[in-house]
Amino acid sequence: MSGLFGVVTKNPCATDLFYGTDYHSHLGTRRAGVSTNDNGTMHLNIHNIQNSYFRTKFTDDMREMLGNMGIGVISDTDPQPIVVNSHLGRFAVCTVSKINNMPELEQLCLEKRQQFTELSMGGTNPTELVALLITQGQDFADGIRNVYRHVKGSVSMLILTDNGIIAARDFLGRTPLVVGRRDTDYAVASESHSYINLGFQTIRYVAPGEAILIGPNGISQILPPSDKMQICSFLWIYYGYPAAQYEDINAEEVRYQLGLAMGQADDVEADYVSAIPDSGIGMAIGYSAGKGIPYKRGILKYTPTWSRSFMPVNQESRNLVARMKLIPSRKVLEGKDVVFCDDSIVRGTQLRDQVKMLYGSGVRRVHIRISCPPLIHGCSFLNFSASKTDMELIARRCIEELEGGVIRNLEAYRDSTTKEYAAMVEKIRQHIGVDSLKFNSLDTLCNAIGLPKQKVCTHCFDGSSFDITSPDINQLALELK
Ligand code: SF4
Repeated sequence: MSGLFGVVTKNPCATDLFYGTDYHSHLGTRRAGVSTNDNGTMHLNIHNIQNSYFRTKFTDDMREMLGNMGIGVISDTDPQPIVVNSHLGRFAVCTVSKINNMPELEQLCLEKRQQFTELSMGGTNPTELVALLITQGQDFADGIRNVYRHVKGSVSMLILTDNGIIAARDFLGRTPLVVGRRDTDYAVASESHSYINLGFQTIRYVAPGEAILIGPNGISQILPPSDKMQICSFLWIYYGYPAAQYEDINAEEVRYQLGLAMGQADDVEADYVSAIPDSGIGMAIGYSAGKGIPYKRGILKYTPTWSRSFMPVNQESRNLVARMKLIPSRKVLEGKDVVFCDDSIVRGTQLRDQVKMLYGSGVRRVHIRISCPPLIHGCSFLNFSASKTDMELIARRCIEELEGGVIRNLEAYRDSTTKEYAAMVEKIRQHIGVDSLKFNSLDTLCNAIGLPKQKVCTHCFDGSSFDITSPDINQLALELK
């Protein structure tokens, strides 16, 4: 993923920018950057945050970040923001993006005699590519349309100019942007909880495809919204912060509803419900209410030094960290039948290790309940570490086993009422090594979010694909020309 924060104030913006950006730290683990505009002078600082927190790296820098307008990013991919001097003037841009057609777009820029100066993980920096596509436009609105027209994947962005901050949300709204106000000051962010302690109130959500200019005197629209939305359902399931709202729907509340629905329908006998912390907690509290059994903390996260689970870069270290930061509470677990709630199962390796730890701590029976349906498809739209290629997913590997090494009949495995689905869940249960395993259905997930199914991306679960290459979207893109 990655997360963005921007602020336009009547006073120096450094403090708001520092804390507002820091509140997006759960969305990225590689790089962070801030840029301010001080009456036309752009300031920029970028650091590697793989081994240290944003606050540790940026505390000293913020004294140099002069100006009343600034943007910041916690990036899971490239070093950003990128500062560009162009026919549009000097600007800084940061993005939450996944660009699947990088080589094609690099070629397009090179043919137009543009050049790349930044490298990211040995290749072209995606945010620089976005900056070059913007500069191909007559003005910023035209440049952003150019980005929407060309990028296959998704891009939301903040552009810091001399006149204010342009906030442009991905054409299908896969990732969110929300606008806040505090008296005469404005902010824009990926995560609305970043406003709470800074005193901003949410005043509106940037719509899919929409671009707005946030200046010292208010907000104006520079591109109208598209009429389609495919906001990522995983914001509510896992990677959104619990206190955040997307389309005015709170992440923690959705997690609670997912647990409530599971608890009401579950006939398992258990002494209490617990959570795989932290992302299973909201669901476990809902499950407790739905099932009418207590919620207890049978396993705890060692919070003084560990934050979120997809911190390290390689899978081996991620598994080690996942194991090290969770501590079972033997006295709470011993001899009990326990339901454990978790957000999702991706590869299944971490959960299998955690389950071994639980049995090793004396639990009698472990029942795993998952807030979303099985992940059958990798994500092509976000740089989201939890959604990998299809064959890394445990559900997909189990289907392959059941189908004798050939993937076919996927439709039947997506439908929670079929015998194929039941066989897949049983296979996953055996791999994880637990007494029982259940997933919420896609209908339950969509009901808990509360948006119409066609407005939410559920591609991970059902393969439905409303991407930028679909005929409808090509038509919309043509209309942009
Ligand atoms: S495929 Fe999954 S992770 Fe990717 S945007 Fe859709 S719901 Fe989100």
